[in-house]
This record gives sequence, structure tokens and C-alpha cells, in this order.
Amino acid sequence: MKKYGEDGRLEAIYCNMCGKKMIVKEGILREGAARFDYAWDYFSEKDGEVHHFDLCEECYDSVLAEFAIPADVEEQLELL
Ligand SMILES: [Zn+2]
Repeated sequence: MKKYGEDGRLEAIYCNMCGKKMIVKEGILREGAARFDYAWDYFSEKDGEVHHFDLCEECYDSVLAEFAIPADVEEQLELL
């Protein structure tokens, strides 16, 4: 979950799973976190809903550890 200040600057990001407040300095996230923005479509039960949430790196790892089939991971060719 992202919180923005009145000036539109990022103030805080909370992990939706454990509630941890992640480190944000000068509007920039300073630790690993995964942001999810997913628009469900016509073929789902949630047609028209857009879901947003953030996970800290620790929770992300524990979610992936539950997968029966591991996520595909590849090296980025260019660091952004
Ligand atoms: Zn977490």
C-alpha cells in the first residue's frame, strides 16, 4: 500500500501482507519490494476490478515458496 503526501510525493509503502513500513527517503523506496497492479478482465469473477498491493521482499519470498511451480526468473540485461 502506497501513501502519498499532499505534494504527490511518495511518503510511505506498507507491505500488505505483514504490515511492515518500508524505508522511503526523499520520495524513493530504499529497499526491495514488489508492486502488483492487476486489472481483472471479462473472463474472471472480478471483471472491471483493478487490484493494487505491495509486498516486502521477505513476504514476496514466502509467497513464492508456496508455489507448486517456481516463478520464472531471468537476469536483467540492463539494470534500470
Ligand atoms: Zn511483508
